[in-house]
Amino acid sequence: MTATHDLLALADRYLLKTYKQPPLVIERGEGCRLWDSEGRCYLDLYAGIAVCALGHAHPALVRAVSEQVARLGHIANYYYNDKQIELAAELCRRTGMDRVFFANTGTEANEGALKLVRRYHWARNDRERIEIVSTWSSFHGRTMGSVTMTGQAKYWEGFGPPLAGVSHVPYGDLEAMRRRVHDRTAAVIVEPIQGEGGVLPAPPGYLTGLRHLCDERGALLIVDEIQTGVGRTGKFLAVQHEGVVPDVVTLAKGLAGGVPIGAFLVREHLASALAPGTHGTTFGGNPLACAASLAVLRTLDDADLLAHVTRTGTHLLTGLEALVKKHPHAATEARGRGLLVGLVLAEGIDPRGVLNAMRERGVLVSQAGERVIRLAPPLIITEAEIDEGLAALDAVLQDPPRTAPPTKH
Ligand SMILES: *Cc1c(COP(=O)(O)O)cnc(C)c1O
Repeated sequence: MTATHDLLALADRYLLKTYKQPPLVIERGEGCRLWDSEGRCYLDLYAGIAVCALGHAHPALVRAVSEQVARLGHIANYYYNDKQIELAAELCRRTGMDRVFFANTGTEANEGALKLVRRYHWARNDRERIEIVSTWSSFHGRTMGSVTMTGQAKYWEGFGPPLAGVSHVPYGDLEAMRRRVHDRTAAVIVEPIQGEGGVLPAPPGYLTGLRHLCDERGALLIVDEIQTGVGRTGKFLAVQHEGVVPDVVTLAKGLAGGVPIGAFLVREHLASALAPGTHGTTFGGNPLACAASLAVLRTLDDADLLAHVTRTGTHLLTGLEALVKKHPHAATEARGRGLLVGLVLAEGIDPRGVLNAMRERGVLVSQAGERVIRLAPPLIITEAEIDEGLAALDAVLQDPPRTAPPTKH
């Protein structure tokens, strides 16, 4: 086995430096625990960015993937495969949507949704309707279409002309949407809770208001549930808390518990917009990823995970609120829903420093937005494990790492 320092040297030599990793190589996981190449154990409160819904090495996922790869791993979409068909039916049943296209990642799901809504209006001879309205501080992915819809300039700067016809308005501001959405708007795209943007939930009534607005103006509503979907907030989709039915829903992250998959789900009136040959993917909907996803969905039911997420999510949020009360100079707010919650750090507290201090205490969390600590643990996490994470956070906030004071001119 290669020693850790040799691996780190190889990483330094051969990987493109698009990430800023700490010098740590994760080798193994089980449940909510991860182990690095030095044998150190960590409590995982970020789940590979809200992906590992069943934690690590869950027996149901291991069994489904092992059996499937031994039976049939890939055939492309020249032919049907049983697992893709079963998964499509399951997803429609759980979401109230009618049809599914399978991709491999979140950005691809959003890219497909974008193509679909434009093509929908085009096919109806409404050919001026190409505009997409998104929100500031949103995150929709990294391919050119998705990154243009992403409402954060740092993600698109320097990559050439952005996709034409895409604009942004402040998140949660229905009036701003009302001013922007008109008869050339193809669709509005929105997250029920802005994940990467800082775990920012939509204000109550916002999604319902967007649904009405889109209906009134003939625009479509795309809801990006890539981070919030598949039970993360205590319902299968976060929009189900408000009873909103979008025209398009995109999923990825937790959908197959760590095996790459993405999907966009549509209502029947959109189904004919993408005729044979107009959209496709080689890997999307492969039996391996679909078998993994079916195992995730079955486990959601068998372990009654939606109720579990609601219960443990309340426990987590309550615990974080107590920390805000106890350390008002370090943290100002706890927010989120289910097991997607954020702790907003006070001005002057260094989020990277908090991440590092947590890691030194054996707990892995992630950052979202400018100064939010995001907790998005596996959906199977126990209250005891949450308490362990809260205790580490309590200790770190006691004497929080501060940002360097601004240099005087
Ligand atoms: C992660 C994420 C994406 C992009 O997914 P990838 O699989 O990284 O391409 C898009 N939208 C939201 C809301 C996300 O959280």
